[in-house]
Amino acid sequence: MSDKNLLWAPWRGVYVTGKKPEGCVFCKQPEAGNDAAHYIVHRGESIFVMMNLYPYNNGHLMLIPYRHISDIIEMTDSETTEMAALLRRSIEVLRRVMSPEGFNIGYNMGAAAGAGIAAHLHQHIVPRWNGDTNFMPVVAEVKVISEHMDTTYAKLKAGFEK
Ligand SMILES: [Zn+2]
Repeated sequence: MSDKNLLWAPWRGVYVTGKKPEGCVFCKQPEAGNDAAHYIVHRGESIFVMMNLYPYNNGHLMLIPYRHISDIIEMTDSETTEMAALLRRSIEVLRRVMSPEGFNIGYNMGAAAGAGIAAHLHQHIVPRWNGDTNFMPVVAEVKVISEHMDTTYAKLKAGFEK
């Protein structure tokens, strides 16, 4: 494991490592039926919305098809339509709940493109604030997430229910 996989989690007082459980987490977590434990904030028909456990920033969301597909061209028309609708919905919720000033949105398709879980397609939505690119990733190759993930989860879950 490279040091780049390290995430400093102040609320746990530990470094979270990039160690992954066996099997496909994006298949297993929605099937587990415990959405709060897995930070699933919203379930659509064919796509669900989950917080990234190794976030680039507070409020980092992922839009994930329930189907285990790895390539965007495998998406059906209805999945593509729902993906677009949930992207807009997620932006609207993030704006209302967290007041970001910008977003990075997109897919890392394939390990060569930096996908952490390349086998199961997912779209990232990373809220951005002016000045949030702090010195930590450059100096220490460690990212700092300031808000407890459970706090962010509660806000976003409530945001999607409105
Ligand atoms: Zn999967």
